[in-house]
Amino acid sequence: MTSVFHRIPKRQLPVAIRGDGMYIIDQDGKRYLDGYAGGACVSCLGHSQPDVITAVQDQIAKMAYFHGAIFTSEPLEELASILTTDAPQGLTRVFFTNSGSEAVETALMMARQYFVEIGQSQRKQVIGRRSSYHGAGITGLGVGHQVARRRPFEDILPNVFHISPCYEYRGRLESETLEQYGLRVADELEQAILGLGPDTVMAFVAETVTGTTSGATPPVPGYFKRIREICDKYGVLLVLDEVFCGLGRTGTLHACEQDGVAPDFLTIAKGIAGGYQPIGATLVHQKVYDAIVLGSGSYKGGYTYSGHATACAAAVAVQKCLRAPGFLDNVQTMGALLASRLKEQFGQHPHIGDIRGRGMLMTLELVENRQTKAPFPASRGLSSSIYQSALSKGLITHALPGTVDGHVGDHVVICPPLIANSDHIETIVELLGEAIDAALVENRANAA
Ligand code: PMP
Repeated sequence: MTSVFHRIPKRQLPVAIRGDGMYIIDQDGKRYLDGYAGGACVSCLGHSQPDVITAVQDQIAKMAYFHGAIFTSEPLEELASILTTDAPQGLTRVFFTNSGSEAVETALMMARQYFVEIGQSQRKQVIGRRSSYHGAGITGLGVGHQVARRRPFEDILPNVFHISPCYEYRGRLESETLEQYGLRVADELEQAILGLGPDTVMAFVAETVTGTTSGATPPVPGYFKRIREICDKYGVLLVLDEVFCGLGRTGTLHACEQDGVAPDFLTIAKGIAGGYQPIGATLVHQKVYDAIVLGSGSYKGGYTYSGHATACAAAVAVQKCLRAPGFLDNVQTMGALLASRLKEQFGQHPHIGDIRGRGMLMTLELVENRQTKAPFPASRGLSSSIYQSALSKGLITHALPGTVDGHVGDHVVICPPLIANSDHIETIVELLGEAIDAALVENRANAA
């Protein structure tokens, strides 16, 4: 019997005892290949990496933590300098949080304070996108649009206007090119701003590549360039959420580099300390920093553990590794291999409707019917069967009943630690094939 309030109490959880590179070992000595990077966190280095362990041990021994309003610390300053040196243009400042949810909340609170400081306090409205995830708190649930998780809280969520996601598989008309589709959905932002009143909108929030709600969904070419133009035209701040897809996961340091845009805020978290310590961050444009510092003089948000010295020490070790020569080249090579192996294995599969992603962040979208793209009924719980089947075969996946513009569809997200080699990729694809087919057989039997 457990007294822990687990999030999914009905799920029987194995006990994780040890990590070893690409593997987790449970209480019975069973080894699991980590196809989910412990929640897209253990991104860079895999499990139990000696350099990070040493960095954490050294820092705890010297000074674990002190409140950031009273002292700064060496790892905090070093991490901030690493993260801002190669940040997208204009993002010269970094504010530390403990999680991705807090990083998104910080971006929105700073956006609001910015407009108050510059005398535009009528700007309060936030625009987000359907089929998106921005965190589990009231702010993140409000800006995001994960229907099932929002449901009990709907009445107390902040009032956010949601536009369509950039979701080519389900959104593009046959008559449209990729570019035409991207411009059409981006233009929904302009219509929303005009509808709400251009001088009332403060921010637009989007994941550069989605990770959770509809699996990994990269934008089509030109989409974010148009979004940036629209934000600039109406003075709306652009928040790109790269908590899931940032810091090397898509093959470049930041996913938005590949879209040729720089936001006003960039939220990051999972890949900062690679899961070795909890830490998130909001990269902030210099103009926001200046307005707040020259205005009231201080940002009015912030958390007790912001810039925790031990978390920063772990993050410095992880970030150095991520920037080591050749590291990201290897992520690109392995990402390309993963994509091509998934296409070989599942391209003709009768129940895989779409294979998409970027770098080491890929998704299979399951459908009952490939022609109509109809998903399996949610009541069949296919993703849960895939997850269990893979786990029994020693593969950790992220199989989830995603939200496809209001209805549920099954997705498998594959995002292994970035140290994966070709043998790991081969095993992931093979075990995934077995797990999906076993789950489909079981599902058909249950439905009969
Ligand atoms: N934004 C995105 C894009 C995420 O994927 C997540 C977590 N999955 C969050 C925000 C929230 O991060 P956390 O769980 O660390 O609060």
